[in-house]
Amino acid sequence: MTSETQHLQAAEIAVVAPLDKTLTYAVPERLAGDLRVGSRVRVPLGRRQVVGYVMNRVDPGDTALKEILQIIDPHPLFHERHAAFYLRAARYYDYPPGQAVRTALPAGLSAPDTSPPVLRDRLYRPTAIDERPKGARQRKILDFIRAEKAASMSQLRGKFPAPHTILQRLVELGFLEVEEIERLRDPFVEIAVQAHHAFVLNSAQQEAVNRLEQALQAKKFQPFLLHGVTGSGKTEVYLRAIAETLEMGRQALVLVPEIALTPQLVARFRSWFQELDVNLAVLHSGLSDGERYDAWCRVARGDADVVIGARSAVFAPLNELGLIVVDEEHDGSYKQSEGFRYNARDLALMRGQRDQAVVLLGSATPTLTTYQRAREKHLTYLDLPERTAERPLPTVHLVDLAEHRQDGLLSEPLQAALAETLAAGEQALLLLNRRGYAPFLLCHDCGATLRCPNCDITLTYSQVQHSLRCHYCDFRQPPPDSCDRCSGACLLPEGMGTERLEEEIRQSFPDARVARMDRDTTTRKGAHHRLVDQMSAREIDVLIGTQMIAKGHDFPAVTLVGVLNADTALNLPDFRSAERVFSLLSQVAGRAGRGDRPGRVLIQTYAVDNYALDYVTRHDFRGFAELELTQRQALAYPPFGHLVNLVLSGNDATRLKAAAEQLSVELARAEADVEVLGPAPCLLARLRNRHRMQILLKAKQRDPLRREITLLGRLKKGLPPGVQLTVDIDPVDMF
Ligand code: ADP
Ligand code: ZN
Repeated sequence: MTSETQHLQAAEIAVVAPLDKTLTYAVPERLAGDLRVGSRVRVPLGRRQVVGYVMNRVDPGDTALKEILQIIDPHPLFHERHAAFYLRAARYYDYPPGQAVRTALPAGLSAPDTSPPVLRDRLYRPTAIDERPKGARQRKILDFIRAEKAASMSQLRGKFPAPHTILQRLVELGFLEVEEIERLRDPFVEIAVQAHHAFVLNSAQQEAVNRLEQALQAKKFQPFLLHGVTGSGKTEVYLRAIAETLEMGRQALVLVPEIALTPQLVARFRSWFQELDVNLAVLHSGLSDGERYDAWCRVARGDADVVIGARSAVFAPLNELGLIVVDEEHDGSYKQSEGFRYNARDLALMRGQRDQAVVLLGSATPTLTTYQRAREKHLTYLDLPERTAERPLPTVHLVDLAEHRQDGLLSEPLQAALAETLAAGEQALLLLNRRGYAPFLLCHDCGATLRCPNCDITLTYSQVQHSLRCHYCDFRQPPPDSCDRCSGACLLPEGMGTERLEEEIRQSFPDARVARMDRDTTTRKGAHHRLVDQMSAREIDVLIGTQMIAKGHDFPAVTLVGVLNADTALNLPDFRSAERVFSLLSQVAGRAGRGDRPGRVLIQTYAVDNYALDYVTRHDFRGFAELELTQRQALAYPPFGHLVNLVLSGNDATRLKAAAEQLSVELARAEADVEVLGPAPCLLARLRNRHRMQILLKAKQRDPLRREITLLGRLKKGLPPGVQLTVDIDPVDMF
């Protein structure tokens, strides 16, 4: 008998509720024929009805069980192997399994019964007439469509303001034909797809591809780190590895940091796969609910062989997974910062192991954790040490702000460089780091800052309380009157970003076309694409932006990159701040000189002797990593130790503090091998009107930490009412 006819009698259900385990329900006769692992169902829970997911079939046993009430979707949303993976992930991150599965699945599932409407679109094609119309606007649109061979209304709308009447006129004049089409739920049709040029791989690329092909043929779990400097052609290596995977009849999953921010990369993949006729699905949070539901179901049905997506795509229900690529594996967006706080990069490795797939982590600036794993040979190290086509890496210089005292934000050397760049008709990127919202004291004579003697992170300055404080261990001291290092009296609070820059540049360079790219200017759908398009079309001379501009862009005419305020990032109170700075600055530097003209990078700072900056100027990842890893080891920070961050929040500050202190004492008493730091106020000490404190658990081994988490499950119940606890395993941001 096949399993199809052996109906389930009871099922293990992950219910969407804050429960730390799955529940068993009976399967009524009427549902038995349709119920599968991966089905979404409605079940009773107490006096409520809740949604749940069928994770497994189980033996009903003798106890009386409640019955499943209803099956929601016509088809299962995932398969058994995925169910097991989701449960494992939920356990690892100590998160309720039902809520974890809900996070893993596309959001559109909240409205199950409505099947998403089909969208209509119009496709315009040039006719055989090859004359040109009279009107300039008509000519512009027609030339575009002729060059593209065909273009849809949705695509044209993104390119030309209000094209409707012009298009209608062009049809009337016989220049265009029009056809009604069903619009794909595909947010990338707007991006002009460039034809893919197959390159002859250079020897480093070829070597990497060979090693990957061998691993793929073995059909075994094997993790790789592809460490390639910016512009070294990593994408080309991914594409070849994916092609090999498909060749072998298996499927590939590609994770990218934030799809909305990497339109060029997605366009490259798309063009390539279109040429090869590969079924591609794109999954990410920028899609509408309907779009995501569609894409997910295609994957679950087995109709997609390649899936590209942001973080949550790591859960995509591919059944024949042969390869997982994690592009820019260092990127912070792989870690979900709320709710189910998983790290997609780590889950990719976990999944690869379960599915016997090859996992390829790629970056120019790998995380030190990944790099250390490669040094210990847990990952195979692949190296692309040079840019393609013999292009040099840009030169990087530090501009000492103590020497170049300035009134505005641009130092005189950066002004001069910008003037030269604009005069040469080239483009510039200016990075304004706004992440530094934790104020600190900076000596404006020598650039010294004050650090915690225990934790080696920058002390956070509070003007109101007139104090310096460590937000890991709560060490405190009053602000000194003069600098310890140079005795200067010019200690000033620093750390607030600014938007004055755009203004300043407009004043200094009235003819330059200036644009800004940050969260404020890119909230509208498509706004980011437009900026990228305008940059590519060289309609912008100077692009100012936050770390967003550092991400993977390939603008060949950019020859100058300026970093306005390196110090705010250096002084973020986080043990990873040097790693982040190295990564961010190397990435943004990597945007310069990708075309024919060499690039240069100017970094403004007071901390000219900072080692991280020094290594950035020399493009020396390895040197930086060796030094930083030695320091991490001394304090047992990851990758030489493991962290769990506990955040307690509540409306009543006194009660919260008492609860946090008691919890900390009990945790410290339980495990000798776990260091309990804090409680200390979180950097964001108040959020949405709740006070927040954190306790950081640190241990060399995972086991004692796991035991603490189990204990926490019990202690949690004794917290006073109104005090909430969240647990972050392997935290990345500790704000
Ligand atoms: P990375 O992702 O490592 O920063 P890319 O994959 O964007 O680098 O490649 C940088 C540039 O080099 C791209 O424009 C790409 O098309 C080109 N390229 C890649 N491989 C080769 C090659 N073998 N020969 C010449 N150009 C290449
Ligand atoms: Zn401290």
